Amino acid sequence: MTDLDLAALYRLSRAASDLGHYNLSKLLNVAAVSYVNRAAWTDLQLTTDRALADAVAALEPQLREAQLDQHLLTALQHARETVAAGQLVSYEEAPIIYVCRVCGAVVAFGAVGQTPLPEQCPTCGAGQLVFQFIPATFYLESAPVPIVMAQLARTPNWLEAIFSGLTEDQAARRVDGHEGEWSLHEAAGHLLDTQELIAQRAQLFLEHESPNLNAKAMWQSIESARWSAADIVSKFRLSREAMLIQLRSAPAECWGRSGQHVEFGPVTLQQQCTYFAKHEHWHMAQMTRIRQAL
Ligand SMILES: [Zn+2]
Repeated sequence: MTDLDLAALYRLSRAASDLGHYNLSKLLNVAAVSYVNRAAWTDLQLTTDRALADAVAALEPQLREAQLDQHLLTALQHARETVAAGQLVSYEEAPIIYVCRVCGAVVAFGAVGQTPLPEQCPTCGAGQLVFQFIPATFYLESAPVPIVMAQLARTPNWLEAIFSGLTEDQAARRVDGHEGEWSLHEAAGHLLDTQELIAQRAQLFLEHESPNLNAKAMWQSIESARWSAADIVSKFRLSREAMLIQLRSAPAECWGRSGQHVEFGPVTLQQQCTYFAKHEHWHMAQMTRIRQAL
C-alpha cells in the first residue's frame, strides 16, 4: 500500500470548501482523518522515550526544510531533548498555540495571559475566530457534563464485563501490542490508579476556587499488582461511585473552575473529568484487544 499524499488530500478538501461544496469537503476530511488514524494505530512501534526522541530527531531536517515556524521548530527540538532526558515536557515549554486555519501561520505562542491572541493573523489578515487551537491531547477537549458523567458511571459495568468468565491466570497473561506488553490485570490496575487520581482532583476542585492540580501526590502508584483482578474491579467501582455522588452534589459553577496543571496549564473541572473519561475509553480498545487474544 502506498502512502497517501495528505497535503494533496487536504488541498482538495479546501478547494471543495472554497467552491461551496462543503459536504464533498467533509468526505475528503473524513478520508484524511480515517487514513491518519488507521496508520497511527497499525504502523507505530515506538515503545520507549528514547526511540520516540530519536524518531522526532530524524524528522526534524524535513520539518526545517518545510520552513515551518521558527518558534515551533525550536520548541520541538527542546521538547525532544526533554523527552530524551526522561522528563515530561512542561506547559512552559509548549504553551498555548494557535495556527491560522487560512494560511498555516503559527499566530500565538505563549502562556495564557502572557501572549494576547492577535485580532488578526499577521501573515494573511484573517480574523482570530478562524485560528485553530491545538490542545496537548484531545482528552482535554471538553464534552458536555451530563455525557461525561453518564460515561464515567458506565465504566464499572464495562470493567466487570471485560473480566467476566476469566481466571486470574488469564487476567494476568501479558499480550503484546503497540503500547508494549500488557495484561488485563495491569490495564485495570492502571485505570484504578487514574481513578484514584481523578477522585483526588475532583475533591480539590470542590474545595478550592483555583486548585493546584499537582499539590496532591502526582502519581500515587497503588500497589494493585498484589490485588486480584476481582479486587481491582470492585475497588474501582467503589471509588468511582463515591466520586460521582460528590460531583452530582457540586454547585454548577464548580465545573467552570480552573486549576493549574504543570503539563497542561489551566484545566477546568469539566476538562479534567472529560480527560479521564476519554482516557478510559481509549483503554477500552486496548483491553478489548487483549481479551480477544486470550
Ligand atoms: Zn493567516
